[in-house]
Amino acid sequence: MAESATLFFMPFLEKQALLAFGRWIEYSWRNNLQLLASASCNYPGRYPLMHRVQWLSLFLFVLAQALLAGCAVNPVTGKSELAFYSMSEQEEVSLGKKAFPEAIQRMQGEYDDQHLKEYVSAVGMRLAKISQRPNLDYTFKVVNDSSPNAFAMPGGNIAITRGLLVALENEAQLAAVLGHELGHVTARHSVQNLQRGMLLNVGLQVLSVSSSGTSYSGVARQAGQIAGSILDSSYSREQEREADRLGIDYMVKGHYSPKGAVELQEFLAKKGGEGDSQWLQGLFRTHPFSKERMLDNQYYIDTRYSWAMNNEEYASGAGDFQRAMEPLRKTKEAYGDYDKAREKEQAKDLAGAIALYEQAVYKAAEQGLLQSALGMAHLKNNNQAEAKKYLTKAVQLDGDYYESHFGLGYLYLKENNPVLAKEHLQKSMKLMPTLNSAFFLAESYEKTGEIAKAQTLYGQVAAADPGGNLGRPAASRARALGDGGRR
Ligand SMILES: [Zn+2]
Repeated sequence: MAESATLFFMPFLEKQALLAFGRWIEYSWRNNLQLLASASCNYPGRYPLMHRVQWLSLFLFVLAQALLAGCAVNPVTGKSELAFYSMSEQEEVSLGKKAFPEAIQRMQGEYDDQHLKEYVSAVGMRLAKISQRPNLDYTFKVVNDSSPNAFAMPGGNIAITRGLLVALENEAQLAAVLGHELGHVTARHSVQNLQRGMLLNVGLQVLSVSSSGTSYSGVARQAGQIAGSILDSSYSREQEREADRLGIDYMVKGHYSPKGAVELQEFLAKKGGEGDSQWLQGLFRTHPFSKERMLDNQYYIDTRYSWAMNNEEYASGAGDFQRAMEPLRKTKEAYGDYDKAREKEQAKDLAGAIALYEQAVYKAAEQGLLQSALGMAHLKNNNQAEAKKYLTKAVQLDGDYYESHFGLGYLYLKENNPVLAKEHLQKSMKLMPTLNSAFFLAESYEKTGEIAKAQTLYGQVAAADPGGNLGRPAASRARALGDGGRR
């Protein structure tokens, strides 16, 4: 694998020039698509009306495509792919490293159980080491989201949700999920999708600038944009088929029974038939499922791996799996209450939500996310004393979830304790920059006398939210501080 980008005149281009080129490609792509659409929709007699400059632009665009096509190589198939810019492995890894932590925060943080973390990671690593890209720095995480799902970020960052884990029965099924995600990584599907989705330019900007962690500049928000875009996007049918097949290959190579993949797909077919909304918004949205996909997998296994189906050496690992899932079984009921509470909260029934969150906390008091959700609901309900009690507990239990720090920082600010407010809001911003935490961090800076920092951050909030509920006051504070701090 080439160390640097393989754009063929890359050695002569500086990064900045490359970014400008990326912007031009993006611009031309949009314009020329419109141009092509309008040309093909109009009758031939109107063609001469197209300006010469437009034709030249179209010509350059097609030329650039022709020159650059074939520069990106798929590590799995070894085939060339159409790409405007082939992201190097180093860049892919670095982009994943920046986007993955934010993706985890968006999925309610990690599920906090050391043994479970190690177990899931060990299953993933067993497959990763025998894949086509064994040398990537892989990470396998369990995120505390109730929606059944799994996702892969560029560079080998893979996560499965609590909601999907509790639905599985044995280790081979888990291997089928992780192997499939691994297939998306080894075949660089999310990189392909970024390239197609015009986000490549954003990705390159994320790589070219390092952010301080307490900034809300455009660049600071872009890692989140990439994370959000990958979490929201769905793979194509072809990508799903490729990931399924790769996943099955890895399972068998790793001595798992391919039965795990069959069972998993049959289970998904059943869930699809039930039309369960959590599944529709979760796994089925990001990894589109169909009966055709299931039959295709069964055919693949029948023709290649039927010998491994009932072979004792190819295990399902049911016992180990059940032992590792013990902590999830214990908290399952509490998280059931939590899910119902979230629905109530979304329906603006705060009292109903609080009652259910309390019930959840009573059943599993050691779960930071439950304490955090209860604290935030009290905060929305203007009960600051109760909010502080639960948010403090949440931070003690799990100091790596942005929302607990945000809520606590906000409360300290209201109590006129800007020093502690700053500490928590900085931590929240570092975990995941949000408009709210940026605004209140700016206010904390103002109150601790760090005027320059306050002014910069207010300015960034104003730029990100022009005319908005936080953007307007931020703009006026930035101006006032610029006038020497007069209110
Ligand atoms: Zn998939």
